[in-house]
Amino acid sequence: MDFKVFETPATFRGSGPYRYKMARCWHIYACLVVPVLAHAQVPPSVPELTLDTLEVKLAQLASKFPGVTFAFPREETMKGWANMNFKPVQNENDAAAFTDLFLEEFSKYPIELIKLSNLKRVEFVERLAVGKQYRAAVPDYEHEVLYYDVSYVRNQRYSRHVVHHEFYHMLEQEWNGSAFFKDQAWARLNAKDFMYGTGGSEAYGHGDVWSFVHPKPGFINLYSTYGLEEDKAEIWAVLFVPDNWRLVQKAVSEDPILRAKVGYLREFARSKSASMNDSYWRQVSGEVVYPPTPTRKTTH
Ligand SMILES: [Zn+2]
Repeated sequence: MDFKVFETPATFRGSGPYRYKMARCWHIYACLVVPVLAHAQVPPSVPELTLDTLEVKLAQLASKFPGVTFAFPREETMKGWANMNFKPVQNENDAAAFTDLFLEEFSKYPIELIKLSNLKRVEFVERLAVGKQYRAAVPDYEHEVLYYDVSYVRNQRYSRHVVHHEFYHMLEQEWNGSAFFKDQAWARLNAKDFMYGTGGSEAYGHGDVWSFVHPKPGFINLYSTYGLEEDKAEIWAVLFVPDNWRLVQKAVSEDPILRAKVGYLREFARSKSASMNDSYWRQVSGEVVYPPTPTRKTTH
């Protein structure tokens, strides 16, 4: 394409007899505009959103949760734990939104519970995967590090759920010795003939297994049926996000196994941190507490 066709005609550039008129025009224009600019509110300069400016958010998180460090790794993992791999954050807007969401969700835990969890570090990344399977989050319970993919923040409800789901795996490892602890007391809550699958990673590639469809008694979704550890983490997570808790209300109110599982996890939490009592749950779940604490009767 010949860009000369777009060249400004000489007359418009103020050549020849038009030069003076143009000069006057610019003068008048400047007189009109300069006072307007002078009185205009000059917006404060907003620092460009970069991982460096986002360090402020990491510092905010670190001051809120003592003992835990937060980071945006600047290099991709070369040798990840358990075949985990990721890329550094590219989208700073996602990173800013995710760290805000994380702060909001993690602030729901008593500080005492976070200390007891022994969580050491949280890293915010992109293209997080285990092998070639993309994951919203990965808990490295061996090194006490949680990894979150910030791009999932575009699905707020899911991201909030994932923050709590992964943290539960850390709690299980800390208090029951393994993130894959085969909790017999929990297993006994299920129907006698029920058997779990071989683990959460088996669920990937099987379509939407995460929606709360109450596929069978005792389970809020299909993902929970793939492993006992996922079942516990899924129910734990819905307790902390009112939008999700609302979605399972009908199932929980109708299903005695689900009510027993909810009660089990709430009691587990209360045994670690006394402040996680009924009034705590009413505040955090934002709905009716199931099951209601039974009125204790003295028997003789
Ligand atoms: Zn999980």
